[in-house]
Amino acid sequence: MSFENLNLIEPILRALKTEGYTTPTPIQEQAIPIILQNKDLLGCAQTGTGKTAAFAIPIIQLLYQDRLQHKEQKTIKALILTPTRELAIQIGESFAAYGKHTGLKHLVIYGGVSQNPQTDALKRGVDILVATPGRLLDLMNQRFVHLDHIRMLVLDEADRMLDMGFVHDVKKVIAKVPAKRQTLFFSATMPNEIQQLANTILTKPEMVEVTPVSSTADTIQQALYYVDKSDKRALLAHLLKDKEIKTALVFTRTKHGADKVVKDLVRIGITAEAIHGNKSQNARQRALSNFKNRTTRVLIATDIAARGIDIDELTHVINYELPNIPETYVHRIGRTGRAGLNGIALSFCDEEEIEFLKDIHKLISKQIPVEEGHPYPMSPQAIMAKHQEGAKKGGGGNRNGSGNTRGRGYGRHDRGGNSGSGMSGRSGDRRRG
Ligand code: AMP
Repeated sequence: MSFENLNLIEPILRALKTEGYTTPTPIQEQAIPIILQNKDLLGCAQTGTGKTAAFAIPIIQLLYQDRLQHKEQKTIKALILTPTRELAIQIGESFAAYGKHTGLKHLVIYGGVSQNPQTDALKRGVDILVATPGRLLDLMNQRFVHLDHIRMLVLDEADRMLDMGFVHDVKKVIAKVPAKRQTLFFSATMPNEIQQLANTILTKPEMVEVTPVSSTADTIQQALYYVDKSDKRALLAHLLKDKEIKTALVFTRTKHGADKVVKDLVRIGITAEAIHGNKSQNARQRALSNFKNRTTRVLIATDIAARGIDIDELTHVINYELPNIPETYVHRIGRTGRAGLNGIALSFCDEEEIEFLKDIHKLISKQIPVEEGHPYPMSPQAIMAKHQEGAKKGGGGNRNGSGNTRGRGYGRHDRGGNSGSGMSGRSGDRRRG
């Protein structure tokens, strides 16, 4: 299958060639024909699958063809709602890349920066608007944005939008969009709330599902490092001695933690910057572009700030701290190994994080291979303490009923996967349908 087989117009095919895309990804192969037939779409796909192009390409094509027929003026005809500024900017970059020979105008709006450049651009007229919900509502209330000519609406990363508390804003926006429209709805997970939201805004949608959230891309090599919390800093420094690690995105749970890792790395001469919610939008953008052009080798991010960060050829993701929400692990490591490239995801796990690790194993239905023989192994006391705590909890949820097996497994020997959580994970697959 090539892009030529998808009945795309020449200006788009030319742009894709410049981008170096030769074959559509599975979500593109499935979604583009559906969208080109003006049908609603419910897409279950995580980031890294090529979903942005899956909606951007057909939107550009439909609007371009409409433009040829109707010679319409620049009113907003497509609206893409997305949870974070970084994601909005990246979607904007996709529209710029794929639409560069079409003359269509797009604009990205988000909060945290002056609204003036955005309102000036709105006054000049745009065809495609990419927006985060808060700033959009704000500019709608100020009457800079009018949605009455929208004919295509995209909800991107709907699950994250819900997690971040945007659901009311999203509903308010949708209420202002004409009912007669084509709606495309993308979410990495499909819990009930998301399903219900989808039901209220989609009409007879076609469903496309590419990578269930519980699975991790096969192209990503994963490894687990059991380590004491106090040794994480040294372990990170040790790993980064490897010159093969050209770029690494390091995740921490907190903003404070991110800043601390930056300081530690800078102190030993490794270029590092942090990206998180306490940084100004400009600082975040600067850190991101320094990382993209490899001025900075290591970018340290919290989950919300990193959502949707799209870095071509990112080789390594390092989980300095494991996330307490298992789905986040899948999102994080999905930053690497994009569009078929190989990626490596290394995760640190200290004593307190073993519970998080169990949830992750359950979700991905497999055990992350344990890296043995690194210079900072978890102390035997920590393993023992954890084991005893588990035993005190009265068998502590070991579904195989063998506390001993689990305790031993914490050390380095659970690669074989007989320690309970892997097995129960398979039957308790949390994929939501
Ligand atoms: P997304 O899932 O939309 O975040 O896209 C993930 C990455 O894959 C981005 O860096 C895209 O530029 C890239 N990409 C998307 N579609 C293709 C394709 N058909 N061939 C090669 N790379 C692609």
